[in-house]
Amino acid sequence: MMLSGWGRYPAIACRTQVLRDTDEIGAVLAQNACLIARGNGRSYGDAALNPDKTLFMGGCDRFREFNAETGIVDCEAGMLLSDLIDVALPRGWFPPVVPGTKFVTIGGLIAADVHGKNHHRDGSFGRHVESLRLAMAGGTTVNCSRTENTEIFDATLGGMGLTGVILSAKIRMRSVASAMIDETIVRAPSLDALLALFNEHHAATYSVAWIDCLAEGEQFGRGILILGEHAAKGADAGGPRKKRAQRLSVPFELPLSPLNAWSIKLFNELYYRAQKPGARLSHYDDFFFPLDAVANWNRIYGRRGFIQYQCVIGGGQSEQGLRRILELVRDMRLGSFLAVLKKLGPGNRFLSFPMEGYTVTLDFPVSSATMDGLKKLDAVLAEYRGRIYLAKDARAPRELVEQGYPDIEAFRKLRRTIDPDRRFRSALSDRLDL
Ligand SMILES: Cc1cc2nc3c(=O)[nH]c(=O)nc-3n(C[C@H](O)[C@H](O)[C@H](O)COP(=O)(O)OP(=O)(O)OC[C@H]3O[C@@H](n4cnc5c(N)ncnc54)[C@H](O)[C@@H]3O)c2cc1C
Repeated sequence: MMLSGWGRYPAIACRTQVLRDTDEIGAVLAQNACLIARGNGRSYGDAALNPDKTLFMGGCDRFREFNAETGIVDCEAGMLLSDLIDVALPRGWFPPVVPGTKFVTIGGLIAADVHGKNHHRDGSFGRHVESLRLAMAGGTTVNCSRTENTEIFDATLGGMGLTGVILSAKIRMRSVASAMIDETIVRAPSLDALLALFNEHHAATYSVAWIDCLAEGEQFGRGILILGEHAAKGADAGGPRKKRAQRLSVPFELPLSPLNAWSIKLFNELYYRAQKPGARLSHYDDFFFPLDAVANWNRIYGRRGFIQYQCVIGGGQSEQGLRRILELVRDMRLGSFLAVLKKLGPGNRFLSFPMEGYTVTLDFPVSSATMDGLKKLDAVLAEYRGRIYLAKDARAPRELVEQGYPDIEAFRKLRRTIDPDRRFRSALSDRLDL
């Protein structure tokens, strides 16, 4: 079947199979020379695509154990984050790190070592994984943790499925008193103001900013900073609010994207004005997963799909590099429907994406102009020794990725030891020779 990531680019014909029981993994490995595990396909590019065999993990979505006293959950890797929340929250527990969608699997969260709005305080998802069970190239299944098979454990966090198939994991959840979030919205009239606000609110548990990429002059880099804390007990008095249904849907793909510099400029102006500064109580769905309210929103970018360009620039040059990237985006007028800024804390080893500094996320409809523009962004990123997020990537040049991930050779060396025949492969790993 034709498969793609969430960006719908590239689409590749893949042989597929559904793993229904983790006990079947030995037989699957015996029957297939190479494969890649696929969670819920929410990575944007080519990380979960293998033409020879793409193994769907969604059939393995059971709880193995849930200790409601300690908040340690042991579940299969194909479990959706949304299902985990549905079971854990009524018992007073919430996932320690969540991305901008709840329609991802536990395996996908680990393999991309996902970061949330609290990375500066709580690190990435991997930090909260106590242990995991990994099916390896030789057909054996091993336990990995910070005390057992530690190299393989570290390489699996952010390893994009290339160390093996994650079958299940034990995760330490966060204790919460309600389903609500105390949210604060602060408007920043310029990039300088926005960066100052990030520093001022460093102690906030959750922080993220939206940036108007097309604003010019003194308004360049203006944005909205969104802060959040888990609300105290009783915030959802009257009973926890009902789960939000997906009210809106983009029913079919549009032949061409309606998004262009003018429509985005209008949207940004309206959005900037609509965000009323101040405090409010928000349901976790609205705070963490606003895009999930619109089913299939990825279709809005048209038949050719879109590229999400997410990079991080670390060290003392983070602010300067971010400014250069945003100036280029403004000048190229490719627009970006979604421009999100986060401040990350220190990261993990190997291919895990986060490192201390600002990360910016930009969406561009696929076109030849976009591809040319992205090469210019790559050049700036290379200058600042920045890093591309592999879970979003569909086209980055190998040299840029190699430069951004200093541990890449160590990862390749470990791969040669544990998977000498390269049985775990994806379109991404072939493209980047991982
Ligand atoms: C709207 C939206 C918002 C997002 N926001 C964020 C964010 O804030 N922060 C962030 O970090 N990411 C974010 N992401 C990216 C997303 O969290 C990651 O790409 C995540 O990996 C997707 O999980 P999945 O289950 O869909 O995995 P897939 O996309 O199917 O696979 C992703 C990778 O995980 C591997 N994998 C999946 N399951 C297994 C397994 N069982 N064993 C081994 N490898 C496996 C695949 O091989 C692949 O390399 C966002 C994505 C979307 C669509």
